[in-house]
Amino acid sequence: MDKTSKRLQKLNERDLRVEAMYRKHPEIRAIDEAIAANGHAMLRAVTGAAAEDQRAQLQARQQTLLEKQQGLLKQAGYDAAVYEADWDCPLCQDRGYVNPGQKCRCAVREEALEKQQHSGLAPLQLAQTFDNFSLEWYEEPRKYERILSTARHFAQQVAQGTYAGNLMLYGAIGTGKTHLCSAIANEVLAAGGNVIYTKTSRLFSWLRSQMYSDIEGPREQDPMEGLFQADLLILDDLGTEKRTDFVEEQLFNLIDERIIRRKSWVISTNFSVEKLLNHYDERLTDRILGEAQRLRFDDVSIRRQKIQKSSGN
Ligand SMILES: [Zn+2]
Repeated sequence: MDKTSKRLQKLNERDLRVEAMYRKHPEIRAIDEAIAANGHAMLRAVTGAAAEDQRAQLQARQQTLLEKQQGLLKQAGYDAAVYEADWDCPLCQDRGYVNPGQKCRCAVREEALEKQQHSGLAPLQLAQTFDNFSLEWYEEPRKYERILSTARHFAQQVAQGTYAGNLMLYGAIGTGKTHLCSAIANEVLAAGGNVIYTKTSRLFSWLRSQMYSDIEGPREQDPMEGLFQADLLILDDLGTEKRTDFVEEQLFNLIDERIIRRKSWVISTNFSVEKLLNHYDERLTDRILGEAQRLRFDDVSIRRQKIQKSSGN
């Protein structure tokens, strides 16, 4: 249901509720009608040429009527909220806007939630932030403090819509790269940005299914377009995908096009720089290594491994 019909439904529910109250308590209907009539008289008195004391009289009468209404409502077990529709957001009365062109907090929150759902982050990752990225697990926490602060600064810039360049997170499995990717994503999402997070292997099976599907006729949109446009693209686990010419070509397109459009990306990989150079075509590695700031995760913490072992991960 769209916003307007939802609002009308809520107003209708309110009217039915008030009408039911009036049927049970005709004395409340009578007082409400008196308040409305007196209110109209006040309005006429303001715009017309009524004497000062007449206006004061009407005002005093309105006050008495309202007090009487409060008493009757209380007696019947109601309060003033009975006249209010049951808004999800009292601030904008579910309009989504507080002023023309100015979105209400509720609409901003709703949009951010929707972007979060479309981001590709797994539910667990939504809870991974900069604040709960623990440095305790590292043997050289100071080095990781620097990595953390670089990543945070990067995320804040992307969140503000400033071009922040690109990042490459590389190093062994289980050193916190995915947590940092999630933290960056969550920071940008919280600011209302569009983020696409994907494991590289999943991205290419999806792309293949999009490009080689049997659908006849013209395609509505190039499946790559969404990947080009997002405020931030995060390719996690580069190197775990099955390597083919198709993959290499699309990967190059994707990274190159985003560089041209000045849209940031983050790549995380378990490969060393040397392995990356051996694994991919030079054209691609030139783009990645030449355009990204590298953050190296080489601290295979014994404590971290112990924790992971004991928790079965
Ligand atoms: Zn609102």
